[in-house]
Amino acid sequence: MKAIRVHQFGDPEVLKLEEVPTPKPAAGQVLVRIHAAGVNPYETYMRAGTYALKPPLPYTPGSDGAGVVEAVGEGVQKVRPNDRVYTGRTVSGSYAEYALALEEQVHPLPAKVDFKQGAGIWVPYGTAFHALYHSAKAHASETVLVHGASGGVGIAALQIGRAMGLRVLGTAGTPRGVEIAKREGAHQVFEHRKSGYQEEILQATGNRGVDIVLEMLANVNLSHDMKLLANNGRVIVIGSRGEVTINPRELMGRRASIRGFTLWGITPGEEADIHAGLFAGLENGTLRPVVGKELPLAEAVRAHKEILEPGAGGKIVLIC
Ligand code: NAP
Repeated sequence: MKAIRVHQFGDPEVLKLEEVPTPKPAAGQVLVRIHAAGVNPYETYMRAGTYALKPPLPYTPGSDGAGVVEAVGEGVQKVRPNDRVYTGRTVSGSYAEYALALEEQVHPLPAKVDFKQGAGIWVPYGTAFHALYHSAKAHASETVLVHGASGGVGIAALQIGRAMGLRVLGTAGTPRGVEIAKREGAHQVFEHRKSGYQEEILQATGNRGVDIVLEMLANVNLSHDMKLLANNGRVIVIGSRGEVTINPRELMGRRASIRGFTLWGITPGEEADIHAGLFAGLENGTLRPVVGKELPLAEAVRAHKEILEPGAGGKIVLIC
């Protein structure tokens, strides 16, 4: 089979398309014919060798993929050959024509979700669901600011926030991003490259502030996010690419808090909640993954460059 392989950490060019043996599922494992693989920012940090998790070399990147079950190992009960599935983590990597996954890492893909959309479920929707339900413990009457609403996690958060009954504000950096955020459920969208946009956000809340900020770029925004919070507000740090200085006094008067998480650290109970919630939302059409760009598997290098560029507009997926 064809697979992307990384033999050394480094620039995007270390992603090589190679011919490798198709794996065979051992007991408790599932072999999935991957039709599309989702590209997430963390895969670029991992490839560069700067991420907290360093896989043994060589490895195939990717946790998110969608396709059809090719074969199952002994004892697998949950899925059968020909079932349509998405992966939430894999054993062998999803940037490949076939991926091995543990039985618990494959999940049914509702009929109305195609494979390209299925490649954009686990990391973006799992993260947004965990941020709103488990971390922020959001209530229907609250207001959330999705700070970075045009990308994979942001669009998922808009759709989930709307389904929960929240008032949903979003930000994006380009006119296309603003349009996408509006279309995907934001009640109001602000441009995060325009000076003074934070003031516009406060005014939109009648100067009360927002209850929750889902922050995609904390190193840039965290210190200002705290000034946008209402009493008992929470900033949920989802993404950060560096250090930041904050004034803790901004939290004290508001009884506010800052929380962070990584999707790798969630509990099995939280993971079961997430997949149950996502399946329901995908099946009833509340959750609709947005594919912004499709590239062939051979263009993984380009995908890793473009995922870090400004101007997000949905998911980048690799067609395998
Ligand atoms: P993505 O699809 O590349 O989207 C990036 C988003 O960040 C876009 O909406 C982009 O908007 C926005 N952005 C750019 N500059 C910004 C600024 N100054 N202020 C606010 N937002 C800004 O990435 P993603 O998959 O949504 O992931 C977002 C971040 O969360 C990444 O850093 C990722 O590593 C992290 N993440 C963390 C976890 C976790 O477990 N904690 C899980 C998933 C993702 P424009 O392009 O329109 O400017």
